[in-house]
Amino acid sequence: MQLSFEFFPPRTEKGKQNLKLVRQELTVVNPHYFSTTFGAGGTTQEATLETVLDIQANDNISAAPHLSCIDSDKLKILSLLKQYQAAGINRVVALRGDIPSGVRDIGDFHYANELVEFIRHEFGNYFHIEVAAYPEMHPQATNMNTDIEHFVNKIKAGADGAITQYFYNADAYFRFVDEVQKNGIDVPITPGIMPITNYDQLLRFSNMCGAEIPRWIEKRLSTYGDDLASLSAFGFDVVSNLCDQLKSQGVESFHFYSMNKTQPSLLLAQELK
Ligand code: FAD
Repeated sequence: MQLSFEFFPPRTEKGKQNLKLVRQELTVVNPHYFSTTFGAGGTTQEATLETVLDIQANDNISAAPHLSCIDSDKLKILSLLKQYQAAGINRVVALRGDIPSGVRDIGDFHYANELVEFIRHEFGNYFHIEVAAYPEMHPQATNMNTDIEHFVNKIKAGADGAITQYFYNADAYFRFVDEVQKNGIDVPITPGIMPITNYDQLLRFSNMCGAEIPRWIEKRLSTYGDDLASLSAFGFDVVSNLCDQLKSQGVESFHFYSMNKTQPSLLLAQELK
């Protein structure tokens, strides 16, 4: 079983200390790698570099920086990748990113497949490249078929695997994997697992990224109000059942959106081991 955990780059000293502790606590499940998100348009880019260099230097676990190409150019991306290579980092999550509001010139890259091609062209097979997958369709895609075609293009451009947007409906994941396989693609598509601990935040994220919260789950979550313990217990049950379902049907890798917290990702991961 391959387990990976995603962090966002902390910017305060307190956040940095907290993340060090979280990383240490998560090592008990022997993670395959720790990934760190990257803000389009420069917002968290320095912090991403700092976080991944710290992971690579101090944890005995591979660091995988996310890298979004929108609003960037080939020189900047090349320079960043060279810094990663110099630090011994050989895994990246290659993304388009979201177009920052007000930006007119989106730079040298339009879509993630162009970034994958660029990395392969410049670095050959040095980097292991993951890309994003959307079992419930990317929110800007016109339909599922073209979205799958675009996904297939990213793999054909040289990606080694994919991590999905989070979902709470295992059927959407399995159908997506089936359809991708029908296109002759057989790379690992790792489900992204989002623990449920905060109703408002989950609604906000889901509205932005197009991940569906099934009605029955949303109705239940909405009844807990300030009772965070009951909400978390219910959320844990839902996500733990989802992981069981995925594992029982042969899924062998899981990526946790940890939100820089040890729990409940650690407990969910321990159940899978
Ligand atoms: P793409 O694969 O380029 O697809 C974007 C859209 O364009 C899709 O609708 C696709 O169908 C369409 N498309 C692709 N190619 C073409 C084409 N040739 N012609 C027309 N349409 C096309 N965002 C961040 O900013 N930082 C992060 O660290 C980050 N990490 C993420 C990690 C994961 C696992 C996931 C699932 C998402 C992450 N995101 C992150 C969000 C992601 O950047 C957004 O969802 C973004 O809108 C799309 O990025 P992509 O790489 O999937 O884009």
